[in-house]
Amino acid sequence: MTQRPVLLVTGGSRGIGAAICRAAALQGWDVAVNYASNRAAADAVVTAVKAAGGEAIAIKGDVGDAGDITAMFEAVDTHFGRLDGLANNAGIVDAPARVDEMSVERLDRMMRINVSGSILCAAEAVRRMSSRHGGKGGAIVNISSMAAIIGSPSQYVDYAASKAAIDTFTIGLAREVATEAVRVNAVRPGVIDTEIHASGGLPDRARDMAPSIPMQRAGTAEEIADAVLYLLSPAASYVTGAILNVSGGR
Ligand code: NAP
Repeated sequence: MTQRPVLLVTGGSRGIGAAICRAAALQGWDVAVNYASNRAAADAVVTAVKAAGGEAIAIKGDVGDAGDITAMFEAVDTHFGRLDGLANNAGIVDAPARVDEMSVERLDRMMRINVSGSILCAAEAVRRMSSRHGGKGGAIVNISSMAAIIGSPSQYVDYAASKAAIDTFTIGLAREVATEAVRVNAVRPGVIDTEIHASGGLPDRARDMAPSIPMQRAGTAEEIADAVLYLLSPAASYVTGAILNVSGGR
């Protein structure tokens, strides 16, 4: 069993998740890097973690699939023999649409990946970390979005609603396990310069949104990772059920 604490990052291959993996390695964590399909990107993150002195593996798995989630956590058990943190980061957007244009299939996929996937991953983490289950404690950080507050009209209200669910889930789970040595918090990123915008058909969204952000710029994945690593760390030992806006004032 590794002596370093072990962090599982869902969607760790690109964007914010990859930045969390790299920052975690520099702060002494070993890292399980989950990815959906981009093996090369996940392998590059594994290489970066190892270069920073950490142990790392890439684990393929769709957080929209309950069987994949079970297998992912079993892979962490097998490889590391412990789990101390979960960054519940994997998430998707869809193409801009009005609510009255959204299909059932779109809504099912959005909620399955962004909401059910995050809840099922947190449940697996609690089964391993909670003192109620014989665990040694740990921390969960859920990745929400400022969309949960803004609602994202005419873009993706479904996505915004999925992130509002993450906010409520964070508060409820934090209180549920507060006496079990598990802290649960969330970060609400504003507009961050990653490939997620291109995946929703708006590749220039981060640049285009800059004038509407009080700080007049999009954020970086590294700026989100810094907030996540704080919430995972002992420096946040009395912080649970908190939702931290990292949004340039938006
Ligand atoms: P991104 O650049 O599109 O990266 C997405 C990551 O998630 C990739 O590692 C991808 O894996 C993985 N992924 C996608 N679907 C998955 C699934 N079903 N199962 C497992 N992994 C999956 O996204 P990002 O901008 O870093 O966003 C990360 C999180 O931050 C999301 O929850 C997003 O909603 C939230 N967020 C982002 C912003 C922003 O402006 N970027 C703002 C607010 C909140 P592959 O590499 O294998 O495809």
